[in-house]
Amino acid sequence: MIVKTTEFIKSATRPAHYPEGDLPEIAFAGRSNVGKSSLVNVLVNRKNLVRTSSTPGRTQLINFFQVNDDFMLVDLPGYGYAKVPLDVKRQWRPMMETYLSKRENLRGVVLILDIRRVPSEEDRQMLSWLRSFGIPPIVVLTKCDKLSKNERARQGALICKNLELDKGEVCFFSALSREGKDGIWARIDALLGV
Ligand code: GDP
Repeated sequence: MIVKTTEFIKSATRPAHYPEGDLPEIAFAGRSNVGKSSLVNVLVNRKNLVRTSSTPGRTQLINFFQVNDDFMLVDLPGYGYAKVPLDVKRQWRPMMETYLSKRENLRGVVLILDIRRVPSEEDRQMLSWLRSFGIPPIVVLTKCDKLSKNERARQGALICKNLELDKGEVCFFSALSREGKDGIWARIDALLGV
């Protein structure tokens, strides 16, 4: 897809506040600091559409951005952030489960994992929701530039085993080199049918 415009539409925590209309949606999920904002910014060619390393308050909302007239890019709240107050943490699970189970125009979720880390409990929860709600995942292993080719392959295999994914199901990505960008777009385009 050629991104011509990306526009912030609104933030929401519950269905009554989700945007109206029937644009298809692709959502982005991952633990805080994983590199979600960096990935989104690379995909839409913007320096700071989504704030990188943003303060917890802003990130605990579901943020909707319209890309061209083609689809809604949905930035889901990062999880696992130690400094988020407990009551905000408790809201994460119902907020996510509601969005993922109720949003009919949701076409797929890009789940971002740090290639150097073992997937967390929340990462596993996300994938298990996607599987049970029948939402196609695009699993992205980011920060690839931090590892050598051999280490990448080894970590990739470990993560796939841990999450019961096939090797072909994960995309390797680096926000620094931008490698992997075209492959992720190809998967998004396929889910959107463009
Ligand atoms: P978010 O909290 O998931 O939105 O994460 P950010 O996009 O703010 O990234 C967190 C930190 O990781 C920042 O310091 C980024 O510069 C860094 N980062 C993100 N992606 C990459 C990457 O692909 N490679 C490297 N080396 N650093 C990255």
